Amino acid sequence: MLTQRFVIPSRALPVPGVPALRDPGMSVGEGYAVWGGVVSAATAYPRRRISDSIRDVADLIVPPMCDGCRTHGSPWCESCQEDLARLSWVRPVSVRPCPTPHGLPPVVAAGPYEDVLRRAIVAYKDGGRSSLQSVLAPLLAASLRTVMPSREALSLEAEADEIVVPAPSSVRSTRARGERPVAALVRSAAGRLAAPPHVLDALVVVRRVSDQSGLTAGERAGNVQGAYAVTARHTRGLAGRTVVIADDVMTTGATLVEATRALTAAGAHVVGAAVIAATARRGG
Ligand SMILES: [Zn+2]
Repeated sequence: MLTQRFVIPSRALPVPGVPALRDPGMSVGEGYAVWGGVVSAATAYPRRRISDSIRDVADLIVPPMCDGCRTHGSPWCESCQEDLARLSWVRPVSVRPCPTPHGLPPVVAAGPYEDVLRRAIVAYKDGGRSSLQSVLAPLLAASLRTVMPSREALSLEAEADEIVVPAPSSVRSTRARGERPVAALVRSAAGRLAAPPHVLDALVVVRRVSDQSGLTAGERAGNVQGAYAVTARHTRGLAGRTVVIADDVMTTGATLVEATRALTAAGAHVVGAAVIAATARRGG
């Protein structure tokens, strides 16, 4: 009889490598134990050898925390995924902020920037939770499909016409290692389209900008005006090309306006923008 004791989550959350918890043949209390309760490993894992479960046990002792609801068990629990599915709009819709800033291209969003969707975006972008890319990318892909409906009719070998350009990430939200979070998300989303468009990480921040949160619409516009530019090595590739901008969130639209200005200055034709979430009212 194994005497090591540990805790398991209060809900039947997906725990990597522990299918037995959701096995109908399992019996631990009502099927799962209460968080903070204690069960014996022999009871919880009747068919698993301890040598196979060392990593699982470690995960259970210090289980990951869900970024959506702060319960322990997985970085993103099934309950939050269900909430996200309910919160997201049936299909991406056209959104525009009020007031609508001059120079804003047509924008499509997959859901409102609130509740569980907001928590997922913040955790991914500012919290370094790269695992949430798989949660958010399908939503951004849906927005991209709406902005570029013709792509779904193209074959994979078709000549790519549109280019997708991620909005530039601020220094604050740029990870110390690897690709910028928004750019990585955009690449993942673009790859989910039937005919994946070419993603060009062409925009950079060329002057210091303040954190946009807490600023009014007018202050946000002034904060980012003239702040973006197309990198020298991408300027030639963008001239005369049709471009869709992709970003995580639209609030006042100031970022998308500035991105449009910089891309247009490089000779690109910006036809729209795709975002995961928007604070703007729907319509238009
Ligand atoms: Zn959760």
